Amino acid sequence: MSEIDKPFFAANWKMHLGPAETSEFVRRFRELHPPRERGRVVFFPPTLSVAAFRTAAEGRPDLEVGVQDVHQDAAGAHTGSVSAVMAAQAGAVWALAGHSERRREFGDGDGLVTAKVSRLLEAGVRPILCVGETLEERENGRLDEVLARQIGAVLDAVDAAELVYAYEPVWAIGTGRTASPDDAANAHGIVRREIEAHGGFAAAPILYGGSVKPANIEELLAAPGVDGVLVGGASLEPDSFAAICAAG
Ligand code: PEP
Repeated sequence: MSEIDKPFFAANWKMHLGPAETSEFVRRFRELHPPRERGRVVFFPPTLSVAAFRTAAEGRPDLEVGVQDVHQDAAGAHTGSVSAVMAAQAGAVWALAGHSERRREFGDGDGLVTAKVSRLLEAGVRPILCVGETLEERENGRLDEVLARQIGAVLDAVDAAELVYAYEPVWAIGTGRTASPDDAANAHGIVRREIEAHGGFAAAPILYGGSVKPANIEELLAAPGVDGVLVGGASLEPDSFAAICAAG
């Protein structure tokens, strides 16, 4: 990880854009977004769309791809799941881990997230560890404690320098509410402190996620400690995501 990774733009498509829609998206995005000398652009389509993404992005190594989740085991009787090794074989270079929707809907707690991050690293896939507090936790003054717990659980087990981090306040995801640049800067400072407390690489990118859109990208990227963004809803349209990636 180095300065070349910044600004870092990541698109989380969640359960949107199947293979045909993915091909069409990439065709249009390539026109809108020429390769840049620095920074990264990484897409997280549904797993079934990874192959279509790679075909459509041929000749554009700057458009990288990852998966949104993997199983915590290397292989086994886990109907419906894919492993980190399979993700790597399918060409995924990156993976999300600990996204708040996984934590809430699928019970991905700190232990499970740690196991998934470990499997990903073993498979040579680079995890983006997502952390963030709920509104209730924030209002109860628990921001610091929650981030320290979520990050500490993983970094007690793996090398902090291997990861990219995403601070995503749960109350800002898909809600239209965005953290203010000051809130983001404060939380990123806590994430940075935890990375360093675990001997992590000082330049590891920390992304902000939560209702990022073309209208707020400039102010968020200008916030101290914000190295990039993880974008959900506003990454589903090529024009909108290209406008975001043009910033910074
Ligand atoms: C996300 O899913 O990581 C996210 C930040 O979503 P949205 O941009 O829609 O809030």
